Amino acid sequence: MIESLRCSRSIPLDTVELLDDVDDIPPGWRDLFSALAQAGVRISAHPSRPRGARNSDLGRLQRHLYVGTREPLVGDGSLAVVRARTSLDASEVIAEWLAAGPRDRRGTVVIAPSDALSLIDVAVARRGMPTFADSKRAAQRGALHVLPALVATLWRPLDVDAVLRFLQLPCSPLPKRVARVLADSLAREPGLGGPVWGDAWDLLKREEAAAPSGSGNRGALAWREWIDFARFDRYPGIPRDEVVAICGMVGNWALPNGDTTGSRREAAEMAAALTAAVSVLDRTHLSASLIERMAVAAASGAATPSRQAEASHDRAVPLPGALWARAGTVVWWHRSTTLSPSDTSPWTPDERALLEAVGCRMPDSVAERRRAARQTLQAVFNAGRRLVLVEVVIDAGEDGGSHAVRALATPLFQDAPIEFDATSALRSERSILAGHDIVRVREPTRRLAEARDCWTVPLGLASVIERRVESATTLDDLARCPLRWLLGRVAGLKPSGDRVAPATERLIGDLAHAVASSCFEAGKVPDPRSVRVSAQAALDRLVVEIAAPLRLPEATAALAFAAARIPSSMESLARILADRGATVLGTEIDRNGAFGHVDVRGRIDMVVSQACGALAIIDLKWTTAPGFRRDEISSGRAVQLATYRQLLVAGGNVHAGYYLIRQEKLIGADDLSLATEHVSANGSLDETWRSVASDRAAVLAAAWSGGHVAAASDAFRGSERAASRRGDQRSPCRFCNLRVICRVPKE
Ligand code: SF4
Repeated sequence: MIESLRCSRSIPLDTVELLDDVDDIPPGWRDLFSALAQAGVRISAHPSRPRGARNSDLGRLQRHLYVGTREPLVGDGSLAVVRARTSLDASEVIAEWLAAGPRDRRGTVVIAPSDALSLIDVAVARRGMPTFADSKRAAQRGALHVLPALVATLWRPLDVDAVLRFLQLPCSPLPKRVARVLADSLAREPGLGGPVWGDAWDLLKREEAAAPSGSGNRGALAWREWIDFARFDRYPGIPRDEVVAICGMVGNWALPNGDTTGSRREAAEMAAALTAAVSVLDRTHLSASLIERMAVAAASGAATPSRQAEASHDRAVPLPGALWARAGTVVWWHRSTTLSPSDTSPWTPDERALLEAVGCRMPDSVAERRRAARQTLQAVFNAGRRLVLVEVVIDAGEDGGSHAVRALATPLFQDAPIEFDATSALRSERSILAGHDIVRVREPTRRLAEARDCWTVPLGLASVIERRVESATTLDDLARCPLRWLLGRVAGLKPSGDRVAPATERLIGDLAHAVASSCFEAGKVPDPRSVRVSAQAALDRLVVEIAAPLRLPEATAALAFAAARIPSSMESLARILADRGATVLGTEIDRNGAFGHVDVRGRIDMVVSQACGALAIIDLKWTTAPGFRRDEISSGRAVQLATYRQLLVAGGNVHAGYYLIRQEKLIGADDLSLATEHVSANGSLDETWRSVASDRAAVLAAAWSGGHVAAASDAFRGSERAASRRGDQRSPCRFCNLRVICRVPKE
C-alpha cells in the first residue's frame, strides 16, 4: 500500500486526524501516514480537551490533568472511585448502579477487559438490561479448543491428562459415547496398550457392529486416528508435514461440507491459519513449545461466535484509547489502562532481537508508554457527565489495584470524599454511588443443614441394593461407613469435574500388581533372582501400557523409586515363598459367590499352597502407611482378606495376609505360617466376614422398611463386635469427599 501511495498522483482524501502522536505509533503505521503526507494528505492531531462541567469534581480532575490546577474534590457524584475485593463484587455494584437508572444514562461507555465485561454482562442481564457482549476474543470456546488440545497430545512420553482433556472437550471430533468410554478407560488404567484400553476398543467395536446402519457411527478405525498414533519427541519435534496433516484432519472435521457456521467454521479457519504459518517457516521440524504457542496464537485470533451485543445506547470498549469522542458517563475498570509492549507483544526479547536483525521494525517501548499515557488522559477528558473508576483489590498485581488515573492525580484524590466500598455496599440495604441510590432487599437467612449420624434410606434404593454385586473393596467401604457406601457405591455419587489420571502412588500400586501377575505363574516358585530380572523387563513394558504418567518428567523420581523397589520386592516375595516351601496356585484369580443376600465378585491377587497343606491368600498392597494394614488385622477389620477367604473356600482351612510391596514384608495373623511379621488378631477372618455380612443385611432391611443407616461417626446399631470393628470411628472421614453432605465436622 505504501508503495502504491508513493506512485499515486492524487488520493481522494484531504485530512487524517490522529488520536496519537505520530511519533508514538508503530513503525509500519508511521510509514503509511508519512506516505499519505507526501501524497498531499493533511495529517493533524485530534483535539483533546476537557469536556466536563467546570464546577464539578469531574471538571476539577480534568483541569488538574490539563493545566495542573488543584481544586479540592467535594464528592458531588460526578467522579467516584469504586473499590471492590473482587471483580464479581464490582460488576454486581456497577450493574446495580446502571439498573438504578440515572435518567441521563444515555451514552454510557464501559472501559473494561473482556473477562470483567463477561461478569458485567451476566449481572446486567440478570436485571433485564441489554448486554455489552464485547468479549470478542475468546480462544477457549467450543470447537476452538480442538486444535490446541490435539497438539498437546502429540508428544512422547504420552501425557495422559492431555489426552483426557482432548477426550472431554465439549465439542469434540469423537462421538460423545466413544469419548466417554475411552476417557473412562484411561482414567482407570492410564496408557495406550493395556488390557483396559483394549477392552474399551473391543466394546466400541461391538457397539458399532450392533448399531443400526445410518446411525452416524463413523467406525472405530476413524476414531482411533485421533488418539492412537505415533508420537514425537518434544525436541526436535514434529515434522512439518505431520502438522499440515493434523490441521487437515481438524479442518475436514470442522467443515465436512464446507458450509458449517459458528465455532466450527472458526476452528477450520484456525487450522488453515496454522497450516499457512508452518508452511512459510524454513524448518523441517517444529518443536513442541513452538507449535503449541502457534496453535494458541491461532486460537486467540478467532472471534467468539455466540456473543452478540444487544441493542442499547451504552457501549463497551476494551482500552481507553478506543474512547475518542465525548461520552456521557464513563465506567472504567482499572486493568484497562496500559498498552505496554510486555502486555501486547507476543515476542520474547530474544525473538525481538532476531526479528530486528532481519529488518523487522518493532514498536519502541518508550513510545508505547507515551501513547498509553496520552490515551489515559484522552479517556478522562472525554467523560462529559460522570467518571466512575473501578479498582479491584484481589485482581490487582503489585499496584494494589490502583487505577492509572489515581496515579496521575494522587494529591487530588487524597482524602477526597469520592471512594465507594463495593463489597460492603453489597451487604447494605441502601447506598449512594455517583449521586444515585442503590437499594437492595435482604434475603432472609436460612440455617445450613447440621451433621447427622443417622440417615434415612430412600425406599427406592432397596431393590438396587438387592441386585448389587459387591466386591471386597465395596464391602470394606460398607464396614467403614454405611453412609459413604450408600451414597458412593449404591447411588453412584461421584465428585464432579473432569476425569484425570490417577495419583502417582495409585499408579505405582497398579503397576506392582501387574508386574507380580506377570512374574508368578501357577506351579513351583521360580528362582528369586530370575523373578527380579523378569519383573524388571515386565515393568519397562507395563509402565507404557498402564501407567504412562509415570514417564513424564515430573514423575521421574517416583518412577526411579518404583523401578528399583518393585523388582527387588518381587524377588523378596519369591524368596519368602520358596524358603517356606510354598507353591503358587495362581495369580489374579477371579471368583464369585452368593452368600445369603450378598452376591460377591472379586479378583484375588495370589493364592499359594503352604507346606502344611493349608491354602494362603496373599493380597498385594503398595502403601506408605503399613501401620494401617497391621491395625486392620489386629482389630479384626481386615474385611478384604475376609471376603477373599469367603470367595475362595468358605469356611475352609485358608489363611490370608498382606504382602506390603514397598516394605517387602508379608504380614498376617498368627496362623499364617508364611508371614514374615505376625500380628496378633482380635478375632478370626470368619467372624469379620459374618459381621460385614450382617451389616449388609441390616442396611438392606433398613432400605426395605425406610429405616436408617449410620454415618461413620455413629456407633453401629447392632452387635458390639461391629462397633469395635469400626474402631477409630471418625478415621474414614479424614479422606472422604462426602463430608460436605453429611457435615461431619473437621477433626
Ligand atoms: S464424611 Fe465420614 S461420616 Fe460422612 S460419609 Fe464420609 S466417611 Fe461417612
